[in-house]
Amino acid sequence: MTQRRGVVIKSKRELALMRDAGRINALALAAAVSVIQPGVTTADVDAAAAEVLRKHGAGSAFLGYQGPYPYPAVTTVSVNDELVHGIPGNRRLKEGDIVSVDCGSVVEGFVADSAITIGVGEISTEAQRLLDITEQALFECIDKMRVGNRTGDLSAAVQEYVEANGYNVVREYTSHGVGRSMHEDPQVPNYGKAGRGMPIRAGMTIALEPMVLAGEPETRVLADQWTVASRDGQLTAHFEHTVAVTPNGPWILTVLDKNLDEEGLIRYNQYFAGRLSPAAG
Ligand code: MG
Ligand code: MG
Repeated sequence: MTQRRGVVIKSKRELALMRDAGRINALALAAAVSVIQPGVTTADVDAAAAEVLRKHGAGSAFLGYQGPYPYPAVTTVSVNDELVHGIPGNRRLKEGDIVSVDCGSVVEGFVADSAITIGVGEISTEAQRLLDITEQALFECIDKMRVGNRTGDLSAAVQEYVEANGYNVVREYTSHGVGRSMHEDPQVPNYGKAGRGMPIRAGMTIALEPMVLAGEPETRVLADQWTVASRDGQLTAHFEHTVAVTPNGPWILTVLDKNLDEEGLIRYNQYFAGRLSPAAG
């Protein structure tokens, strides 16, 4: 992992590039979402996202990422108990599965990182509730991305919301600064105390990513050395946006523009209906 020391404050121009990357990343996730249905493989989901990056001339922040071995795809596709870092392959999605797709796009050296979890066909009420709570935890957290707050406020917002709803947050993986590298300072855990940590400043960009477990918080890494799953086999969910701090509040860089009319895009936008503040850009 390339971990920069110190928080990197972005200029206006750099934020604009991250917004470009963020828009492409949103398109990639929308394309991935649009192919998800029973019988489709996780490799098919990855291919749909990869095609969007290729079409827009964006690089992948994931492909070749250093880990136990170089990461082999442009997305991670994590199913059911798999929390993050699932490697796309020949696994076929089934009715009732929940699937997390995470993608990172690069434009002129700047990274945007976002993820979504959706159901395959009809899913159980319990699974839908887990998705709803996890996505709302992300928005609770985004709402704290304001000058004058501290990173502990982000952490506490996620932990308090998730635990109040009867689930657990992950301990081993964190939200993170993002910019010229996919992982910059600060690391922002999904748990913590309000009022602690580093002050939030304008120009900070953080990939906020609640990772939520329906059961116990412990995770395990599967035999492929990348995929992280719940240890108890219970369902997990993961939502992520790259968010910049502006003097006027949070600016979510990884959303689609409005008024897009392709079916997949509309479906994707529905996840954000009523939750977005009128963001710049
Ligand atoms: Mg991500
Ligand atoms: Mg991330």
